[in-house]
Formats: sequence, C-alpha cells, structure tokens
Amino acid sequence: MFRKVHIRLTLLCAGITAVIMIIMSLCYLYVSETGLYRNQFQSFQNDINTITTNLEQQSVISMEWLSKMEAQGNYLFYVLDGGIPFLYNQLNDTGESSARSLLLEECRKAYQSVTITDTEKQSDSSYLSSHFEFEFVSESTGSRYFGSVISMGKYASSLEIIVLSSLQPLEQQIMEQRFHFILIDLAAIFLLTVFSWLFTGLLLKPIMENHRKQVQFVASASHELRTPLAVILSAAECCKSAPSEKLEGFLKTISQEGLRMSALVNDMLTLSGSDNQRFSVRPKPIELDTLLMNSYEAFDPLAQDKSIALSIILPEKALPLCSADPERISQVVSILLHNAISYTPEHGRIELSLFHKKEHFYLSVKDNGIGIADEDKKKIFDRFYRVEKSRSTKDHFGLGLSIAYEIVKAHGGNIQVADADGGGSIFTVIL
Ligand code: ADP
Repeated sequence: MFRKVHIRLTLLCAGITAVIMIIMSLCYLYVSETGLYRNQFQSFQNDINTITTNLEQQSVISMEWLSKMEAQGNYLFYVLDGGIPFLYNQLNDTGESSARSLLLEECRKAYQSVTITDTEKQSDSSYLSSHFEFEFVSESTGSRYFGSVISMGKYASSLEIIVLSSLQPLEQQIMEQRFHFILIDLAAIFLLTVFSWLFTGLLLKPIMENHRKQVQFVASASHELRTPLAVILSAAECCKSAPSEKLEGFLKTISQEGLRMSALVNDMLTLSGSDNQRFSVRPKPIELDTLLMNSYEAFDPLAQDKSIALSIILPEKALPLCSADPERISQVVSILLHNAISYTPEHGRIELSLFHKKEHFYLSVKDNGIGIADEDKKKIFDRFYRVEKSRSTKDHFGLGLSIAYEIVKAHGGNIQVADADGGGSIFTVIL
C-alpha cells in the first residue's frame, strides 16, 4: 500500500515540478529565439547600410568587391540592370546557375508581394540610394532568407542590387539551443524524480512507522485479550455442569479474568487517548513530596506482603510547588512502584526518592531486583514489550511503562532507566 502511495507521490511531485520547468524552458526559448532573430535582422540591416554606403562611394560597381563580400559573409549578391541580371551573376554562376536564378526570382516576387506602402519602399528616395529588407521563404527549397533590395539611384539606369542572407545558420543555432534544452530538461527530470523519491520516502517514513506500530498494537492487544477471554468462556462452560461446591471457584476465575480484561482495556484506552491527542493533563501547582508520600503509604502494604523493604527519601527543606497533573503523576509513580515490587524478589529493597535541582524535580524508584539488560532498556517503553523472563507474570501486559512514558511526555518531562548500584534498576522521572 505504502509503495503505491510512494510511487504516486513521487510522480506527482516530479510531474508538477517537471511541467513548471518545461513551461519556463519554453518561455525562455521563445524569448531567446525571438531575440536572436531580431538581432540577426538588425545586423543584416546594418550590413546592408554599410554595403550601400560602400557602393555609393564606388564610381563603378566593382565586381571583385562584390565577389569578395560574398565570400566573406553569408550573402548572395545579384546585380540587376533594368530588371535584367547583370554580368556579375553570370560570371559567378557555375552549375548552380538555375538554382540561383530561381532564388532571385523568388526573392523578387517576395519583394513585390511584401505588403508595404510605396512610401516605405521609396522612403530613402531623397538620398542617392534606397534599400528595403524583408524575410521570405524559398518555395523551391523551403529555406528562409533575409532579403534586401538596394536601388542605386546614382546610376542613370535603374540599377538594383539584391542581397540575400540565408537563415540556415540561425536556424541551426536555434536547433542546437533547443537540443541542449531538451538534454538539460531530461537530466533535470531524472534528478527531480530521484529527489522526489527520496523526499517523499522521508515524508512517508514516520507515517509508515506509525502504521507498523498500530498494526503491531492491534495484534498484541488481540493476543492479550484472547487469553482472559478464553479462560472466561471455558469457566462459563464449566459452570453449566459443575457441582455447586466448585461453582464458586469458576465464578471467581471469571471475575478475576474480567478484571484483568478491564484493566487491559483501560490501559489501551489511555494509550489510544494519548495517540489521538485526547490525553487529558490538567497541570496545577502541587507538592510532589506529599504526592510521593501518599504513593509510599499506598504501596507499603503490598511491599510488606512480599517482605520487601520500601523506603522513601524526601528533601528536608521545603520544595517549590511543581506544575503537574496530580492524578497522572500518581499513576506514573504507581506503575514504577508496581513494577519494582513485581520484579524484586522477596526480602529485596525499594527506595522512592525526590530531589530538586536547577528548576527540575527528579523523582526516582530504585530497586535491587532482577534488573534490565542494556538491549532491553531501549525497548521497555514500547507497547506490549515485556522482557522474556518476566513474561510469566500474569497481571503485566507490557503497557505500564508506555503509559508512564506518554504521561511524562505530556508534562514536557523525561523518563530514564539505568542500572542501580549493586544490581537492580533505577527509574527516574524528570519534571
Ligand atoms: P509490565 O506491565 O509487563 O510490567 P511495563 O511496560 O511496565 O510492562 O514494563 C515492561 C517490561 O520492563 C516488563 O515486562 C519488565 O520486563 C521490565 N521492567 C519494568 N520495570 C522493571 C523493574 N523495576 N525491574 C526489572 N524489569 C522491569
């Protein structure tokens, strides 16, 4: 399920950025290409201006000069006298002569058909010469050209010089630019996809982890509930046929298992409340030493039953008030004391202590019981986690410490576990 979501998110993320990038590339190409075209046309016009001035300065049109110019630039020159191609063209014509003539014809046709006013064509008539630039497409070759018709006014007959410049180099430059952009865009799309895959993977990681925990929680909860339920069902079955003297025993079992189930359901509700941010913590200024004293008094009889020496160490000086939810903090102390009594053998020692340092309260439960291995220390706050050797304890579901952890977290505090000096464990809550 998550793999599909991951792929979809990656495609969405990479797709949207790729579309934006392609649109921007197209806009850039459009601006760049129109700029290139405009510059080319302007440079063509400038060249024609220079050519016209040079021609005006020559007393006769030098064919060598035109030939040199043609060789230098990408220009084709045609000299027409009274509309008839002049010697220059014939001299230069080889086998391409028909193609050149065709191009000349097409250019002249294009010049005539360019929809410009006569005034524009004759705009330079006050000067010795005039010229007009335009773009046309050769119908025979499909190539685009800039063309210019220079009318040399200084000569008696109507002498025209037609200059053509092929747009092929510009088109090639534009094609190269497009090709480079396609390559860059493809590389960028590839990188974007890789980045999106990693990025969405990182985003999904906590969700996947949460989902994994939820599934595990449900599986563990069902497993834990099944055991007391099975006992209740079999005891109820036995009740049907059991003699009256045994009936009480079965009913007691049903009641005990019912209570276990109720405790488990309560624990699960507490944790699900914390997951849904419905964990009610109502902090108020409380005296932590009094709270600890009450817990000590409540658990002392239980400890005595197991011949465990439960002691309490409180600071002699009066402590400042602590802002905490008394019910919830009592619950944490109860969980820690209950565990300590459960995992400490008979004649053991448990010490409940409190001290205050630098604005923090340190509340500790230390025992000299079975202790916790280092590899288990990280896991004991996980839901339903129980260290193997203590699994046999029937009224422990592995939820106590995870509830304590959520309560302390909701208070903005911290809970830690360490090895106690001389064996056993010490749990410290920092508020
Ligand atoms: P449980 O209800 O099983 O005690 P907890 O979440 O309170 O669940 O504790 C998780 C596990 O941590 C316990 O199963 C036990 O193995 C271990 N543990 C907790 N407190 C102690 C302790 N004081 N000494 C040794 N092991 C402990």
